[in-house]
Amino acid sequence: MSFRCKYMEGCPMYNYLTTAVRIIQLQPYVKEYCLSEDHYEECARYKMRAEGKIPPDNLLPNGTVLKA
Ligand code: SF4
Repeated sequence: MSFRCKYMEGCPMYNYLTTAVRIIQLQPYVKEYCLSEDHYEECARYKMRAEGKIPPDNLLPNGTVLKA
């Protein structure tokens, strides 16, 4: 089975990245972080979750904020 970030279920950003109208623009984040065994721990959301914090819904894996 392929790798998946353990916080994927219930991650609002993951859900957004995979359903947004801008999916072509956003899909690279999924590959670079959510499905990457080597890089998922670098995800800004992952780091916050690992510290017991709740990341804001619009925080992107690279630490920037998704703008409308
Ligand atoms: S890598 Fe980050 S954005 Fe992707 S599922 Fe995990 S916590 Fe969510």
